[in-house]
Amino acid sequence: MGTIADTKWHGLAETIRPETRLLIDGQFRAAVNGETLASINPATGAVIAEVSCGAASDIDAACEAAVKRFRQGAWSRLALRQRVEILSRFADLIAENCDLLAVLDTLEMGKPIAEMCAIDVPASVLTMRFMAESIDKISGSVPVTNTDALHYILRQPLGVIGCITPWNYPLMMAVWKIAPALAAGNSVVLKPAEDTALSALVLGRLFLEAGGPDGVFNVVPGRGAVAGQALALSMRVDKVAFTGSTGIGRQMYRYAADSNLKAVSAELGGKSPQIVLRDVENLSAVAEKVAGGLFGNQGEVCSAGSRILVDRAIHDEFCDLLVGHAARKYRPGDPLDPTTTMGPLVNKTHHARVQGYIDGARTEGATAILGGGSSKAETSCFVDPCLFTGVKSHMTIAREEVFGPVGAIIPHDGLEDAVRIANSSPYGLAAGIWTSNLGTAHRIARDLECGMVWVNGYMNGDMSQPWGGWKLSGHGRDKCLQALLDSTQSKSVWVTLES
Ligand code: NAD
Repeated sequence: MGTIADTKWHGLAETIRPETRLLIDGQFRAAVNGETLASINPATGAVIAEVSCGAASDIDAACEAAVKRFRQGAWSRLALRQRVEILSRFADLIAENCDLLAVLDTLEMGKPIAEMCAIDVPASVLTMRFMAESIDKISGSVPVTNTDALHYILRQPLGVIGCITPWNYPLMMAVWKIAPALAAGNSVVLKPAEDTALSALVLGRLFLEAGGPDGVFNVVPGRGAVAGQALALSMRVDKVAFTGSTGIGRQMYRYAADSNLKAVSAELGGKSPQIVLRDVENLSAVAEKVAGGLFGNQGEVCSAGSRILVDRAIHDEFCDLLVGHAARKYRPGDPLDPTTTMGPLVNKTHHARVQGYIDGARTEGATAILGGGSSKAETSCFVDPCLFTGVKSHMTIAREEVFGPVGAIIPHDGLEDAVRIANSSPYGLAAGIWTSNLGTAHRIARDLECGMVWVNGYMNGDMSQPWGGWKLSGHGRDKCLQALLDSTQSKSVWVTLES
């Protein structure tokens, strides 16, 4: 780890006094039972803030306010251009508060500040703008009917959308959920992850400052098994928009079945392959990008390309290049230092989990060619980037989502074999293909069982890209126009013209 640089970010980190109370019906207030959750900086172990920890009754109050405001119509029936203006202003305010939002997420989860400034904050602003601009661009339809009838299909808001988000992109995941929900005219109750609630509370304040009506956007931090469960079980909630692990994603469907059959969208985990074919022209450049697709955000990325499937003919050369690039670029360091490319993992529990996968890979017979040292879980949340060779498809490291900077390199014997291995995962979030042959790329892209495929790149895209998976990676779609449509429901109106 490098020395702690004296940057503007440290100054800001020392002086901010973040809002820590729940936002319910336009008012910030403590949790009814007075409970708080300590927000801990994983880079230092210091307590950043004590955040109000919502109980089930706080969630009930937020849902009650959300329904009441929805029915009153101050947002749900507001003239569309006014809704566009308020959400555009909301996007402007997110941009104006970029430093505050960046530093809060970096402090709470350890993400490098450079990533916050280059990716999370701009992507959040863009998402809010895109959804604001799209409000009056979607439409219902008028199907052709017999002449004795007029049939039109309206698109209307669902009512209350409960958003439950993870800690790995605290701001961006929250915005991916709330932007389409609010744009479509719904009321929202957001339950951010336990470790990372502070940027969500800033969003709540900024929505009000932008002119959003009270009670339309509520933010209730709390424990998943308490506040999250209460939200997903609430009879007042019409849809749960969830991003998180596959295990808790399954729970969402159970909660829906056990309550009001609310709609569920679920963006879940992954074990995404990056397929390197032997025809790539610049193997070193590919190795550098493959490292980026694996180690960005410390590997705490749902779509991390953590299974690296390399043609056996170039396997050894590729591994050398990959190790070289990874070792040069990804060294854990102070996340507030703008030159840092890798921060700590989010908390000690997660660190121990990731370290368990590393230890387990060695025990199962894989070979660490980078990192892979023994556990430092007692003292630190930092993990060095780690690459394993000799990985067999049945090994835990090849099957389960590690959610850390750990790559499993698996040799393949050409196209068909690569696709077979890629599709052998129960997950189906994303995949990357590295090849010089575009025909091959299109063919593999068609055959891969996942929601997103990148050719000769990884994790690039824009707002037109539907973000979401197949199989155990879930069924929702974030970011794109589909996300806005999925925040509405259809109503068929059949008008009889002649009796
Ligand atoms: P998690 O499933 O543990 O928690 C996600 C959210 O669910 C949190 O807000 C948590 O408090 C809440 N929760 C936990 N238990 C709950 C319960 N019993 N009832 C209701 N809510 C509950 O996930 P995490 O550890 O915060 O995030 C990491 C996971 O998220 C990874 O699996 C990652 O792949 C996934 N993820 C997916 C995407 C995607 O777009 N597909 C994006 C980011 C993260």
